[in-house]
Amino acid sequence: MEVRKAEIVICGAGIMGVSAAYFLAVKTGMDHVVLVDERSPLTLTSDKSTECYRNWWPGPGDAMVRLMNRSIDLMEKMAQECGNLFHLNRRGYLYLSTEKARIADLENTAREAESLGAGNLRVHDMSSDSYVGHLADGFAQKLDGADLLLGPKLIQGYFPYLSKDVVAALHVRRAGWLSAQQYGMWMLEQARAAGVVVIRGRVEGVDVRAGMVEGVTLGDGTRIKAPVFVNAAGPHLGGLGKLLDVKLPVHNERHLKSSFDDHLEVLSRDAPLVICADPQRLEWNEAEQALLVDDEQTTWLLDELPAGAHARPEGESGARSILALWDLRNDAVDVEFPVQIDPLAAELAVRGLVRILPGMQAYVRRMPRPFVDGGYYTKTLENRPLVGQAGPEGSYVIGAASGYGIMAAAGMADLLTVQITGKELPGHAAAFAPNRYSNDAYVSSLEDWGDSWQL
Ligand SMILES: Cc1cc2nc3c(=O)[nH]c(=O)nc-3n(C[C@H](O)[C@H](O)[C@H](O)COP(=O)(O)OP(=O)(O)OC[C@H]3O[C@@H](n4cnc5c(N)ncnc54)[C@H](O)[C@@H]3O)c2cc1C
Repeated sequence: MEVRKAEIVICGAGIMGVSAAYFLAVKTGMDHVVLVDERSPLTLTSDKSTECYRNWWPGPGDAMVRLMNRSIDLMEKMAQECGNLFHLNRRGYLYLSTEKARIADLENTAREAESLGAGNLRVHDMSSDSYVGHLADGFAQKLDGADLLLGPKLIQGYFPYLSKDVVAALHVRRAGWLSAQQYGMWMLEQARAAGVVVIRGRVEGVDVRAGMVEGVTLGDGTRIKAPVFVNAAGPHLGGLGKLLDVKLPVHNERHLKSSFDDHLEVLSRDAPLVICADPQRLEWNEAEQALLVDDEQTTWLLDELPAGAHARPEGESGARSILALWDLRNDAVDVEFPVQIDPLAAELAVRGLVRILPGMQAYVRRMPRPFVDGGYYTKTLENRPLVGQAGPEGSYVIGAASGYGIMAAAGMADLLTVQITGKELPGHAAAFAPNRYSNDAYVSSLEDWGDSWQL
């Protein structure tokens, strides 16, 4: 049996484990960091995401906004260092409504984000318009907060590809997307160059003696002795916690993403992420209705469906691919790989987008062949992540970042590094500490929390 030694063993080379290795080894100069994964790095969940980011998060409190602002600061720094190898842009998120009654909700949401530190709200209509449009590439434009554009005429002037029924467009500015794979690989290369060792293997045991971590045992019997263990196992976070007798309050939801060739150029190649902010009933013809109503698996598709269908262009300006998503079922499930693909996922996303992108109707009639993949959102009770000590001394967790792990990874790894190196924690750290659930008052207060603004 092989025995190796390390200072820190991280289990999981998804975006969380890779970011943790990068911040520990490159930013803090820690030696003897080992990253263990049973797969190739970044191939389970972290290469399935929509790759978007935003500093736009709800309360209570400003912890999420602070985490994301910090994370985006760090991503921007890294992008500067590598000549923006990972194509970070700042096109923003564009929330769209066709209902006048919803304008007040959009405005209230923006005021809440403003009060939490996401930046100011600017309101524009035809009589007073000082809106500054986004740049398609790079992140040099420093606008934050949001712009609320009111009235179809104003909105059509800036976004002619949207439906003329759109009466309000809320453009969140410290937001956009990146190539998550290139981002992760760049951090991994830097980490390797700083001495991080990547080992292919499955962590099957965490060795603990007298309440302190001593190392891990891999499936092939290899032992890695180390006083610090980091659980970054993504959808397997809960299972890995059990190896340490630590119950992590996490569950998994399956989420799918479709991409297809937008050969009719329905969505401008320069568009931001467009999101339908209206709940809606889909239009089905009589034959379709009869089919749906006959099957208990599908009758719910005739009901009112939630807001949130979204899309963005994918790839270089010469490409035609777009990503389309609409999360309609968010039930907790057992994880299985490969992830089960819902044959209706792409069609439903396209149907949901017709309301804001009328050109999508042509794809409802004749759907281009989609590519559908996906993974799991690993979530806590209140949809906030876990970063910090959990279980025996020397045992940490980083994960449960739901549908926002790419954007949060740098901020979370930064927090983890501060904890492992014993430096002073910033004020928002407590909101993500795994031990927050031992406070009964906190857990009962979660019932009153509002929307988590999940996408
Ligand atoms: C459809 C979809 C869209 C998304 N869109 C966005 C988005 O727009 N923006 C955003 O920020 N986030 C998005 N996300 C979320 C984001 O992708 C995840 O939060 C993030 O990738 C999770 O990273 P992770 O490192 O925790 O997990 P993973 O990437 O799953 O990595 C965990 C790793 O741990 C390894 N592992 C587990 N157990 C063991 C073991 N016992 N031994 C060895 N190795 C082990 C696995 O092999 C895996 O490589 C999206 C997710 C999905 C599914």
